[in-house]
Amino acid sequence: MTSPADLARPTLGSARAEYNALVAQGMKLDLTRGKPSSAQLDLATALLSLPGEDYKAADGTDTRNYGGLNGLTELREIFSGALQVPVEQLIAFGNGSLELMHDTVVQALLSPLPGSEERWIDQERIVFLAPVPGYDRHFALCERLGIELQAVPMTADGPDMDVVEELVAADPAIKGIWCVPKYSNPTGTVYSDDTVRRLAEMTTAAPDFRIMWDNAYAVHHLTETPAEIADLLGLATAAGNGDRVFVFGSTSKITLANAGVAFFGASPANIAWWLALTAKRTIGPDKVNHLRHAMFLRDADGVADHMRKHREIIAPKFAAVERILTEHFAHVNGITWTTPTGGYFVTLTVPAGTASSIVGLAKAAGIVLTPAGATHPYGKDPEDAVIRLAPTFPVLDEVEKAMAGVVVCVKLALAQQGQS
Ligand code: PLP
Repeated sequence: MTSPADLARPTLGSARAEYNALVAQGMKLDLTRGKPSSAQLDLATALLSLPGEDYKAADGTDTRNYGGLNGLTELREIFSGALQVPVEQLIAFGNGSLELMHDTVVQALLSPLPGSEERWIDQERIVFLAPVPGYDRHFALCERLGIELQAVPMTADGPDMDVVEELVAADPAIKGIWCVPKYSNPTGTVYSDDTVRRLAEMTTAAPDFRIMWDNAYAVHHLTETPAEIADLLGLATAAGNGDRVFVFGSTSKITLANAGVAFFGASPANIAWWLALTAKRTIGPDKVNHLRHAMFLRDADGVADHMRKHREIIAPKFAAVERILTEHFAHVNGITWTTPTGGYFVTLTVPAGTASSIVGLAKAAGIVLTPAGATHPYGKDPEDAVIRLAPTFPVLDEVEKAMAGVVVCVKLALAQQGQS
């Protein structure tokens, strides 16, 4: 009997004809990176004329001068709530969180962390757990620094904690796990309270195990009901594991990408460790930029108001992705996608073995997608089934055109697979 799912599979001939028509359009569209659009960056234009003559911080510090390694207090106060880190344990630092993550891992390689006498670099193996699908730059950072990646599956509640708990309890070489706890890149997953609690409380064989809590999308909601996550640092501290948490965040997708401010939060012992080492690297961060951010964003409500404006620009793009995928694939077996309530990405899952051909077909038609496999360690998705879509950067009309093109490519890849 023919099922509705089979009916939705196009014949090879019609799929090829549609694809040829797409190629003939000569498109030039890019759905690869999660970048803010120009309209979003325009929201922060006022930053560029701040702080003006008013360069003194609230405590009288002349922000134009050296010093203040922790960063400006008034800015740390604004982000302490969203990042769930007490102000005195939160550092405001440079222009991006990726460099903070990189440098913090390098410091851990070179200097023993609180809780250990040994440097990571002196270990035979260092392993980080990588919930998949995940963020390619986390993986690239580890590859560059000689840290092995071990994939663990993502569930709707965050990493599969049964797997994580078993691995970290057994293997002292496992020194870390990457987590994007709210609106994960690329699945949009929001970690459940139970997942956060288990991460805070689990037994680890390594005394210097660290959770890389990359809360990049802490305030990046796509709906009127912001997701809340449990307080990892608070729960870990209560469980006697406060030192295992490294919190990261930034204003890259709040104000200006790579001209914003990045944050690092951790236990008092970790912060003391980090400050002592970072003092050898710099005399202080760009406090003028901190001040202009504090003036521009004002307080947590100011951040929320500003993020509402972002939402107005990008939510229709996510809605377009959802609408187009639903129109074409709601009844097709093996095709699913995420409907994120925040963040910057949609994960499209296609039948095993077709993701790279879809990305290749799209490329040949002038639509650039993130390479298949990028969401997995070493660029290898064993199922070849995951495609990351990033709809924020192009204007709405381009997102619609690109998605219509992606649909054509998916249909052709499915038809080709059906023939093989
Ligand atoms: N972390 C995640 C999960 C991201 O998706 C991104 C950018 O896409 C970053 C970090 C980069 O952040 P930053 O601009 O602060 O370096």
